[in-house]
Amino acid sequence: MGMTTSASVPADSGNTTVAQGTVTDRLVEANEQYAAAFTDPGMDARPVLNVAVVACMDARLDLHAALGLSLGDCHTIRNAGGVVTDDVIRSLTISQRALGTRSVVLIHHSNCGLESLTEEFRHDLEMEVGQRPAWAVEAFRDVDQDVRQSMQRVRTSPFLLHTDDVRGFVFDVKTGLLREVDPA
Ligand SMILES: [Zn+2]
Repeated sequence: MGMTTSASVPADSGNTTVAQGTVTDRLVEANEQYAAAFTDPGMDARPVLNVAVVACMDARLDLHAALGLSLGDCHTIRNAGGVVTDDVIRSLTISQRALGTRSVVLIHHSNCGLESLTEEFRHDLEMEVGQRPAWAVEAFRDVDQDVRQSMQRVRTSPFLLHTDDVRGFVFDVKTGLLREVDPA
């Protein structure tokens, strides 16, 4: 009944492969070990560094490691492309107004999956399922320009309290380095 992945499909359908488990089983198992070593840091929900990071969901971008962040330091808002959608504005608004963040860092990256898509993706979806999604794909060709557009969307949002410290970067997935994008 559940979703399967190539890693989860047993060679035979018997219970003999149950120890192998699905990828989610593996995650749950890892969590048990995490919790065993975990001690309550005694923090409240307000990020220690008063910063929200908006980034692409790309698996090669380990935000905490790449930015030297620790548990409790920041809000992390991620989606395909690190695009500033209405829902990202929703999260940033709550982040700033309810949880005290003041700075926004936007991170796109080299070799993003959205560079190989176009808005045709929506058309193809419509052809396949008979319904056009309400959301834009937000595909792009020029990553710097996309970062600029994202910064602009944050800076011009009427809902945000703090739009003076908004900076945008491109993370290089080959070198691990951030490159800042000039907002102009
Ligand atoms: Zn990406």
